[in-house]
Amino acid sequence: MGAAIRHLTATNPGGQVFTVNIERDFRYDPYRDFLVCAHCGWSPSLLTTQRIDAMAWEHLAGSHDATAGRTDQENESFRKARWVMLPLCAVLVIALLVVLQS
Ligand SMILES: [Zn+2]
Repeated sequence: MGAAIRHLTATNPGGQVFTVNIERDFRYDPYRDFLVCAHCGWSPSLLTTQRIDAMAWEHLAGSHDATAGRTDQENESFRKARWVMLPLCAVLVIALLVVLQS
């Protein structure tokens, strides 16, 4: 399966935290994102116009009664990878500008 790129969590009235992961499958081109609930195996078809995070919140509220303390966190390693890519892209753009001006 894909790599979890985001974690959407919410807390139910009993204080239990529920998590829905957004997994990205890079085997597809363009890649595809999937929603997977870590607690009940819920994994909906995403052939819908609904927003992916709205669906996750709806599931957490509807199936697990978890409506409080919603957090939307990016996966740690995924975030780090982007921090490496960002300066790299900036350097490339600057290099391109220098080449175009000469
Ligand atoms: Zn669930």
